[in-house]
This record gives sequence, structure tokens and C-alpha cells, in this order.
Amino acid sequence: MHYDIAIIGYGPVGAVTANLFGQKGFSTIVIEPKEEIWDIPRAVHFDGQTQRIFQSMGFMDEISKIIHPMEGINFLNNKGKSIVNINLKLDEPINGYDESVFFNQPIFERFLRSEAIKHKNIDIKLGYKLTDIEARQSINNLILLNTNNEEEYVTCDYVLACDGANSFVRKALNIESFDYKCDQDWVVVDYQVDDKYKINTDRYQICDYKRPTTIVPITGQHVRWEFKVNSDDNLETLEDEKNIRKMMQPHLWRLNPEIPLHSGKLLRSSAYTFHGLLANNFRFNNCYLLGDAAHQMPPFLGQGLCQGIKDSYNLCWKLSGVINNTFNKKILDTYTVERKGIVDFVIKGAMKQGDIIGSQDWFTATLRDIYLNIASYIPRLLRPLKFQKPWKIKNGIIDKELFPNDVNGVIIPHPSLNIKVENKLFDQFLGNNFGILVFDNTNNIYDEIKKLDSSKIFKDHIYLIDEDHEFNKDKKISRWSTENNIAATIYRPDQHIYGCVGHENVVNDIDKLTHKLIDELI
Ligand SMILES: Cc1cc2nc3c(=O)[nH]c(=O)nc-3n(C[C@H](O)[C@H](O)[C@H](O)COP(=O)(O)OP(=O)(O)OC[C@H]3O[C@@H](n4cnc5c(N)ncnc54)[C@H](O)[C@@H]3O)c2cc1C
Repeated sequence: MHYDIAIIGYGPVGAVTANLFGQKGFSTIVIEPKEEIWDIPRAVHFDGQTQRIFQSMGFMDEISKIIHPMEGINFLNNKGKSIVNINLKLDEPINGYDESVFFNQPIFERFLRSEAIKHKNIDIKLGYKLTDIEARQSINNLILLNTNNEEEYVTCDYVLACDGANSFVRKALNIESFDYKCDQDWVVVDYQVDDKYKINTDRYQICDYKRPTTIVPITGQHVRWEFKVNSDDNLETLEDEKNIRKMMQPHLWRLNPEIPLHSGKLLRSSAYTFHGLLANNFRFNNCYLLGDAAHQMPPFLGQGLCQGIKDSYNLCWKLSGVINNTFNKKILDTYTVERKGIVDFVIKGAMKQGDIIGSQDWFTATLRDIYLNIASYIPRLLRPLKFQKPWKIKNGIIDKELFPNDVNGVIIPHPSLNIKVENKLFDQFLGNNFGILVFDNTNNIYDEIKKLDSSKIFKDHIYLIDEDHEFNKDKKISRWSTENNIAATIYRPDQHIYGCVGHENVVNDIDKLTHKLIDELI
């Protein structure tokens, strides 16, 4: 049997990928050894950009029912006193959605699977494992082991390896990873508080050098605890319920002083060594690594899964364009370049966060407390602790030469979610395509741009978003374009900025920029 696409692994990244490519109509096979969803909540946090991706998939109505915003996090010192309280709820979030929301991973995965099975073009093979891969330039030959331990053969044009941290595909293709050497041992615990106790949903980072601890109520009565492992801990008994409750004891009252120590259910506990690993290449011939197969990071920023979803979103428009003969195959080279740059930045941020919260030495911890105390008065210094990162594509399909601008490579701000035009939110209005936004219409620039021969590649996706446009009701877009001196911009199918032009020679410059883009795409 031959498929356009084989997705290896049906964890959360595989399931998002199946939906993204399923929606495009490609014949797809999904291979996953486990029959059931792994009923262990690992990821608990999404950011705003990830929610924009769900919106583009048409999933946000359902996903908004299973997420809870995180308002902030309180950093406490070893005496339990607040050092700094970080507010994560912005009045004007850049992506429209809350920048930090919590969810339960198995519930999320169940939803993704319920959507994926709606696509007749996807064959989902649960109980199947990939055991061999021959990755040629023109075709991929795969050997699968089915539920009866029999081998089956399939071929496909593209392999999307979403097979997790121990990726079989990554190893089979001999793709090495860079090790950031930031390993840290933590015990992660999911705890269900008895229904009769209403819990305080404040989140705490307890920066006690003797036992760095995180307490994060997730959704409902579910609380995530994380305890850093000390060098003198007995590893044999570390995950025993008795030991875990002992570690919970000094802080349990923060959830509700009435909760008795032995009440509630420990849903699971697991000792992890958190790594920072980044594959040297996310591609070999027509095989691509996504999610944990491509990168692993300490979970302190709650970004591992978010970045896996962004891998998929980045690859989807490029690969779809190549399969449909809209784009030249060379754009597929930019997948590694674009994604690696961002993931490297995020891993380093997560490491910084881990160092800040996880110090186990009195002296460093005291310096940290002093720094955080000062930083609470100088918000700029708190940036490493915030989730709102200025993620930016530095190399790839962006203009760096013609009209360099700080916003080239960043995602365009999303106006308030209360604003709709033609019953569409901003991203839905723009569509998953390249397009032009014109902000300055002096001398009918908008019409002149539409007349350009080059701008035909944008079809109807040329929009005038001037001061009076409905999407400027909250002034977010106009403020952004003014601050960055932008008269018009070319945006990408993933809502990132390809390039911008200033207020002089707008039409001419957009023409030049479009020609540059055409050279890169076609
Ligand atoms: C404690 C903890 C907390 C975290 N918190 C967050 C968070 O808050 N936010 C966030 O974004 N991320 C978080 N992460 C990271 C996140 O959980 C992972 O990045 C994410 O689950 C990875 O998904 P994946 O689909 O890439 O891999 P996996 O979930 O590992 O899925 C891989 C799948 O591939 C299958 N597979 C393996 N080998 C084969 C084969 N040979 N053939 C076919 N299939 C195969 C496996 O069975 C598995 O189902 C956290 C991680 C941990 C450990």
C-alpha cells in the first residue's frame, strides 16, 4: 500500500499532525504500537501561539472548554515568604489568547483522536510498530510489525516521525542530537484532591534550596507537584507514596488548610531526568522529525509539546505547498533552520528557569532571592521567568536583506478575540496563505499594490487594515505597525511576518519584496 504521508507515533504531536495533514486531504497512515492513549498527564500547559494553531484547525471552540488560564505564579523563599509574584495574565495578550493555560493531556489527546478519525483519508493503525525504514530520495519503504507479530510493508512519499524521545526513526537515520548538558532529576507527581475540599488555585514555585518544589493546580481537583531530587535522597524509595506525602506535607496547606495529609489520590509519580537535546537536523531526505523526536527540554516553561505542535504547523504549509506543486521543494530545507533556531532559544530559556527555581545551594539561592526581589520592581529583569517570549524566526523564509525590520520573523499580533469581521477572527480572515496587509493608504497605495503583476501570487489575500478597519477597534495592529514603522507587510501562512516596507516607495518596495519571496518559494 502506498501513502502520501506516514506519521510514526500517535502521541499528542502525532495526533495534531494527523489532523493537520488529514484536513489537507492527503492519504495518510498513522502507526502507533500502543492501543490506548497513554493515560498519564505529562504536559499541562499551552501558550497563546499554540492556541492560535488550534484556532486555525477549527478546534478552539472545543479546546476552550478544557483549558484554564494561569493568572500568575508566586515565587516563595525557603521561609515560605513571597519573593516575587509574576502576573502572567496580560490585558492585551499578543496572541489574543491567554499566554498561559492549563489542560489535562489525556483529555486533549482523546479530543484530537476523535477529530482525526473523521478523516476518511487517514488509516490509523493502532498496535502497529515501525521496525525498519529505508529512506530514499524518491520513496520511503517501511516495515511494520502488526498486532499478530506479522510484518507488513508500506511505502510513502513522506515520513513524519512523531515517535517521541527515543525516536526509532531518528536513530535509524543516524541523526545525532546536541546535548545542552543540563540534566536535572525531579520527581513529578499528579495528585487528585478529594472533591470535598475546594482548592486555592494559586500557583507556587517554592525556591527552598533544601527541596525546590513546584505546586500547580491544573484543572478541577488535579494538582501537579514537582520535587527536585537531592543528592542524599534514597532513589529506591523516592517515588513511594509515603515519601511523596512527606515531601508534600510542608506545603499542602497552601491548597486548603483543611486537607488532611493522607487524603486525596496520588494519580502517579514519576522520577524524570530532564534533558536538553536538539537534533542536528530535523530532516533526512523525505523524513522529518517532529516533537520530542526532534527535541527535548526541561519542562519548566511548559513548552515541549507546544514546540512539537509548532513543528507540525511549520512543516504542514510547506509540505502541502510542495505536494500540491505550489512551492519548490527547496523550501523544505527551511523546516530545520526555522524550527531549530526557535527551539534552541526555548531550551535555553527553560534551562535558565530551571537554574533559577532549582538552586540547591544556600549561597546561590540567597543571591537569587535578592535578584528576584530587586527584579520585582524592574519588570524587564523578570523576562526569563515569563512565558511571553519574543520568539522569532531568524533564518528561513523571511526577508533579512531588503528591508530588515525587527518584526520580520515574528508572529503578527492578534486583535482582541471579541472582534470578528465577516464572522471571522483575524487569523481566519487572513487565511493559511501568503498575503499582504496594507496599513498606510496614502495615494491609494492599496489599489496600486493590487495592480502589481507580482502581487497576483497573493490572489485575493491583499487587505487594507487602516485605522478605521474593524480589526483596529482595539488599536493593537495600528499601534504595532506605527511602532515598527510599517506601511505594508507580507505575512506567511503561519501568520509570521515575511517582510515589511516603510512609508516611502511603498508600492515599489512591496513589488521588490514580492519578487524576492517568489524566488524563495517557486
Ligand atoms: C513532567 C513533564 C511535564 C511536561 N509539561 C509540559 C507542558 O506543560 N507543556 C508542554 O508543552 N510540554 C510539556 N512536557 C513535554 C511534553 O509532554 C512532550 O513534549 C510531549 O508529550 C511529546 O509528545 P510527542 O508526541 O512528541 O511524543 P510522545 O508523547 O512520547 O509520543 C510518541 C509516540 O510514538 C510512539 N512510538 C515510539 N516508537 C514507535 C515506533 N517504532 N513505531 C510507531 N510508533 C512509535 C510511542 O508509542 C508514542 O505514543 C512535559 C513533559 C514532562 C515529562
